[in-house]
Amino acid sequence: MTVTAASGVDKLALLAGTFGGLASDELTELAGLTKVGRYPAGHVLCQEDAHEDIFYILASGEAVITKQISDAEGERVLRRVGVGDYVGEMALIQNAPRAATVRTVSECTVLEIGKQDFEAMLSRSPRLAISIIRTTLSRMRVNDQMAIGDLQRTNRVLAQLDRNKLEFIQVAAHELRTPLTVMKGYLNVIKSDERLPAGGLLAEALAGLSRGTERLQEVVNAMLDVARIDADMAAGPRFAVVPVPLKSMVNDLVRRLESDAEGRQLRIDIEHARDTPALNADPTLIQKALYQVLINAIKYTPDGGRILVRTRPVQLDRGVPGAEISVRDTGIGLAPEHQELIFEKFYQVGSVDLHSSHKTMFRGGGPGLGLAIARGAVRAHGGRIWVESLGHDEANCPGSTFYLHLPVDPPHVRA
Ligand code: ADP
Repeated sequence: MTVTAASGVDKLALLAGTFGGLASDELTELAGLTKVGRYPAGHVLCQEDAHEDIFYILASGEAVITKQISDAEGERVLRRVGVGDYVGEMALIQNAPRAATVRTVSECTVLEIGKQDFEAMLSRSPRLAISIIRTTLSRMRVNDQMAIGDLQRTNRVLAQLDRNKLEFIQVAAHELRTPLTVMKGYLNVIKSDERLPAGGLLAEALAGLSRGTERLQEVVNAMLDVARIDADMAAGPRFAVVPVPLKSMVNDLVRRLESDAEGRQLRIDIEHARDTPALNADPTLIQKALYQVLINAIKYTPDGGRILVRTRPVQLDRGVPGAEISVRDTGIGLAPEHQELIFEKFYQVGSVDLHSSHKTMFRGGGPGLGLAIARGAVRAHGGRIWVESLGHDEANCPGSTFYLHLPVDPPHVRA
């Protein structure tokens, strides 16, 4: 008779059901190491993150395994466990804190084994070890499947949110474009009127209005660009590819920005490798990408800093020949947590309150579309853009380096 009179638990029958294939002497030895515990509903058998050293086998009742996702999202139920299931083995085997919380949902009777006894038993009984490994691995597979399912659902939601963002940009850009054209038209009419006195308050006000409408036009253009590039990516790139002399394109762009840079005592140097290849690409898109990165290098570098633009040949994935353009600045740098997100539409680092919308002023933020345009343009060519920086520090200015990798031939024209 194996039922312990005091506890009413048939340890041998329970253990035989839980660990199939154990010999009777192994079952007897294991049963001898366990003690019976009884807990009311709501009792925590294992506490996530705690260092605890008991392994439990449920003899009656039910418990639930949960994991804390975040403060905002609370906890997530991983699994419910019942008679014959065991919990708490992973932390014991790994010598690690508990990976999840196990809480009883009804009154429970459990068999408990301490860490030392559990380890001794595992080393004596390979059959027990294998049974536990099998169960644990299959649970991990189920958890993996659950996590993958969650990720797929989240990705679908994110893709929908991204589409909503794009639709908003398209609608807003078109709504802004019409009144902007009207404003610019009237401004031109007033400015060309000969009765307008030279100098004075009115001329100053008109100059201010012109600057304002120009800036607004740039923002609307950025919105249209990002909408167009995203729409093209969804429909498959449709741009015309022509030979682009990369080195001279870089030189021309830098020359165009030199007066802005000089106004801020910034030096821009260029270094081309002798064998930087020319690209087959859409020159307008490549220029847009590089322009955004250069403007940012100017904006996020304090007066007196230095910007270095380099080009060189590189081998991309699978040995595809390509070119690298890098833009290194001595600016405020970027913290690691922002280094991927800055390429998302409307993403900005820091407080919007500090926002000034001047194009090249130090820290003169824009609408947060520049790098989304750059990434869209680079990706449309089958390329990659990323940033490296030691972190954000406005006092010591660690700087940032943006890298653009572009194939010599975009994938849809490659043989
Ligand atoms: P914005 O219109 O705000 O400049 P971008 O998409 O061009 O938008 O850039 C997104 C954010 O990335 C910026 O708000 C800025 O915080 C950060 N950033 C971009 N370039 C740099 C740089 N060279 N150094 C430091 N921060 C940068």
